[in-house]
Amino acid sequence: MARVAVVTGGTRGIGRAICEMLRDEGMTVVANYGGNDDAAKKFSDETGIATYKWDVGDHQACLDGCKTIEDEVGPIDIVVNNAGITRDGVLHKMSFDDWNEVMRINLGGCFNMAKACFPGMRERKWGRIVNIGSINGQAGQYGQVNYAAAKSGIHGFTKALAQEGARSGITVNAIAPGYIDTDMVAAVPEPVLEKIVAKIPVGRLGQANEIARGVLFLCREEAGFVTGSTLSINGGQHMY
Ligand code: NDP
Repeated sequence: MARVAVVTGGTRGIGRAICEMLRDEGMTVVANYGGNDDAAKKFSDETGIATYKWDVGDHQACLDGCKTIEDEVGPIDIVVNNAGITRDGVLHKMSFDDWNEVMRINLGGCFNMAKACFPGMRERKWGRIVNIGSINGQAGQYGQVNYAAAKSGIHGFTKALAQEGARSGITVNAIAPGYIDTDMVAAVPEPVLEKIVAKIPVGRLGQANEIARGVLFLCREEAGFVTGSTLSINGGQHMY
């Protein structure tokens, strides 16, 4: 039986590349998304991959969404926590809503999805959870205390949950992308982006496929000894 993989925020950008790569590997893939129905329809029409709409920051919606997928598609073996947003601003201008929304979706979404899928993985003694963090969670970034805190939290969450899953055949890993050419980065003003690219040793933005390849590796059967790790894919921009 093909492994069943759920990719949150799977309809655009990095998530879409992950969906297609896991599908091409022979997995049964479904994509969650948050609200952009047009993008979801385009994705579904072009890839044939089923989509499920709910807000990953909503705990009950995650439980219900994953239950629906399990009823309609099968037990969830793989979760890629990719959905994420930015609400940038320096601290003195950042509202509590901007702080809370980023924590709720980016970090809370990982907890909510794990709560929905981890028990079944434990029972079946196999699972893969890959959380998409960020270079800005590792190094910090001006104007992103909310995003950097949420992404840094993802890296801690990953290491803690990896310890809980290890004896049950469940690996939990993170990927920390650098700057990748997606809608999220297209929102960065051009002069700021030029300065960012100048700091990337390989001299360019990354491509979504370059992150998807890392996810695919971590989801494979043979990656069972890799857990609690963070794979940085950032063109050399941040090394440690
Ligand atoms: P995009 O903005 O291109 O796509 C985001 C995806 O997440 C969309 O499918 C969107 O759905 C979905 N989403 C947003 N909010 C929710 C929600 N509340 N519930 C469910 N789905 C939601 O992002 P990227 O592809 O650029 O980024 C993907 C991940 O990679 C994010 O976690 C991001 O933080 C991280 N990352 C990205 C980097 C980059 O340079 N691009 C760098 C480092 C990390 P919808 O279409 O419905 O809005």
